[in-house]
Amino acid sequence: MSYREAGKALGQKYYQLGVNEENEYQGAIVRDPNNPGKYGYTTATHAPKGVTIVDPSKYIAAVQGAGFEIVGWSHTHFDGMMNFSGNDMNFAHRSTTIFLTNANGDTSMLTRSHFLDAVKSAGYSGTSAVRSFIRDHQEDGIPGVPIP
Ligand SMILES: [Zn+2]
Repeated sequence: MSYREAGKALGQKYYQLGVNEENEYQGAIVRDPNNPGKYGYTTATHAPKGVTIVDPSKYIAAVQGAGFEIVGWSHTHFDGMMNFSGNDMNFAHRSTTIFLTNANGDTSMLTRSHFLDAVKSAGYSGTSAVRSFIRDHQEDGIPGVPIP
């Protein structure tokens, strides 16, 4: 499947489970080792019930240790929130593109460049622009690009 299809497919597979359990499911988008130019997703993991801020470093290490190249990240919100949180923005900025699927099964994507465009067009500049923008939008978040 394509990159975007893989990001969406993880969300479609897990979002209802996340709603039922009040968990955020998370997983990696990886290159398909058997099909150049194609992508897939890893079996998702989740935090304890009710926890929305997750440190995925051990999970990432395990995926990489199995020989996969992580080229994206996909997670679910168990409420209707379609915006990317401050934590999500940090991930897009520091690591890789992040996909989100909410409780309605809608999926969108936040790339690093989309995030930086949002910072710039909101008028933030200078060395603390990213930090200030994330602080000011921690709760309400920002929209990404819808994946139809
Ligand atoms: Zn999120």
